[in-house]
Amino acid sequence: MSITEILDDITKESQLLNDPGKPFKLWMPKRVVFTADAFHETYGQKIYERVTRLGLHVEVARNNRITGLRGNDERETYRIAKNTLAVVNAPPSAFNLRPIPPSADWQFHLAEGCPAHCQYCYLAGSLSGPPAIRVFANLPQILENTKKVQRLNQVVSYEASCYTDPLSLEHLTGGLEKTISFFAGQPTTHLRFVTKFDNVDPLLGLDHQNRTRFRCSLNADIVAKRLEGGTPGISARLAGLRKMALPKSQSGGAYPVGVVLAPIIPVPDWEMHYSKLLSDLQSALDFETDLTFELITHRFTPGSRDVLMEWYPNTSLDFNETNRAVKRNKFGGQKYVFVKELMAELKTFFEMEIALRFPKAKILYWT
Ligand code: SF4
Repeated sequence: MSITEILDDITKESQLLNDPGKPFKLWMPKRVVFTADAFHETYGQKIYERVTRLGLHVEVARNNRITGLRGNDERETYRIAKNTLAVVNAPPSAFNLRPIPPSADWQFHLAEGCPAHCQYCYLAGSLSGPPAIRVFANLPQILENTKKVQRLNQVVSYEASCYTDPLSLEHLTGGLEKTISFFAGQPTTHLRFVTKFDNVDPLLGLDHQNRTRFRCSLNADIVAKRLEGGTPGISARLAGLRKMALPKSQSGGAYPVGVVLAPIIPVPDWEMHYSKLLSDLQSALDFETDLTFELITHRFTPGSRDVLMEWYPNTSLDFNETNRAVKRNKFGGQKYVFVKELMAELKTFFEMEIALRFPKAKILYWT
């Protein structure tokens, strides 16, 4: 396949999936491969049953290595990897819990990688190797491991979407259902995850004991349409969020919910676009809810920009560092954020608009 054909393929895929006139199709990998160990895990077998029921052809490797993910160049590698579901066991290092401020106390992972094609994807530069979607078959052990951190009389929160969009894979794995049910039985730990997907129906009937907060990642429609390929549109996400928040008596999931506005980008007429989004959100949540907001402006590192420019060479996203301020972390790494004055303007706008429409909602952080 030539580079032009690969580009066409990805562009077509992204555009079709974002066409509001067409129903969104959940991701069906072109290749599903299990490592030998993952295939023998009980949860690995459950995934095997699900994917074969969906008519997907499955390979089982003779050993614990996944090969065949690289193409002749980065673009082809991207295409091959983004069409591959690899079912593997998470390595021992996954059992060393790491903090994840400001989102939660700790993080753990059901999977790494995501089938969507967001042109700002925060996974670029964070995960090494081809961007295949790796699901962890030893999830039960990963969940048990979260019991390690306990605090007297204090709830500990866990974030499950640092390296994946877990709902994007739910039809193939059932991993969230398992995870939500696990946390329901843990009085001192709470689960949080965020998604751009809307296939929430299997989660509605779960007995979650209010220990899972479902967060929906939203953006101005114009940003989502241009930059978030392979994801459901904003109105579909709002409908999913509404279902998750509605009381059980109205066939909803009665979950505590949240909105992650990210990445906030000051496109032309940004006040109008984001006001419309918040008004649509207000209409979707026209009942009492336990609602939080997380507000994240667009940022990038030199490393993530290089990867994204290879994956999406025609992106309209502005990666020009001359319009940006540099923020350094304690390890010497740097990222580009909006300049101070623009940051202040955006922050004031969002805080005011949210307070006006959702006076009881809490803004957890602005960054
Ligand atoms: S949904 Fe999230 S993880 Fe997936 S491509 Fe988009 S930004 Fe990346």
